[in-house]
Amino acid sequence: APLNVAQLYLDGVCRSFDGFKAINGLSLAVEKGELRAVIGPNGAGKTTMMDIITGKTRPDEGKVVWNGDTDLTRIDEAGVARLGIGRKFQKPTVFETHSVEDNIRLALKAPRGVFPVLFDRRSAEENRRVTEYLDRIRLTHLRAETAANLSHGQKQWLEIGMLLAQEPQLLLVDEPAAGMTDAETMETAELLKSIAGERTVIVVEHDMDFVRALNCRVTVLHQGSVLAEGSLDHVSAREDVIEVYLGR
Ligand code: ADP
Repeated sequence: APLNVAQLYLDGVCRSFDGFKAINGLSLAVEKGELRAVIGPNGAGKTTMMDIITGKTRPDEGKVVWNGDTDLTRIDEAGVARLGIGRKFQKPTVFETHSVEDNIRLALKAPRGVFPVLFDRRSAEENRRVTEYLDRIRLTHLRAETAANLSHGQKQWLEIGMLLAQEPQLLLVDEPAAGMTDAETMETAELLKSIAGERTVIVVEHDMDFVRALNCRVTVLHQGSVLAEGSLDHVSAREDVIEVYLGR
């Protein structure tokens, strides 16, 4: 039987900024189709980790292995995006003056990782996909609405829909629940759960209710490496994790 190769494997990654080790021997394996939450106190290195995976920041040491054979640390940000690694930053960045539907359409037509500029003819296949993604993010009833009129939560879902339209294999999502209502937070957890399986999803998050709702494996980062890993119940019962969160 073939060895179960992790889709994404960080091996001994280090990155310093002015002598300060923001990432310090970080090793992490994520399986294809997995939903993974990455938590940790401020300054733990979560953003830097995402920057390293996406080629925005280069590590000083270590490897980031994609699908068992590609070292992402040798590829630039645009190249990583082309491989099918999509990133959603914390703030929603949708095309405010376009309709919800046209936002999805623009994303469909753009190459991965590139901001779309124009679109032309609408094929039946394109219309089918637009409908599918709108349905997926539950914004079908708002398809003609101008994106600027959406709530914060709806804009976040629209951006997730735009990422989905680019059919990434791995989605990196940075604090999607920040600024959301409780109801939106729970809907977002359901959306990400529905995406996982067919795609791999890594979520960086602070909101523990949201992480609980994701009901997935949790990695706790601290001082640039993995402090604990397992279910939320497992990691949150650990004395060292509690200490890190309480700052003792
Ligand atoms: P988190 O996202 O978990 O809050 P970050 O990855 O943003 O953590 O930061 C980890 C540490 O690295 C912090 O102490 C931060 O100040 C430092 N850091 C991150 N990026 C830079 C940078 N470009 N220049 C200097 N220090 C940085």
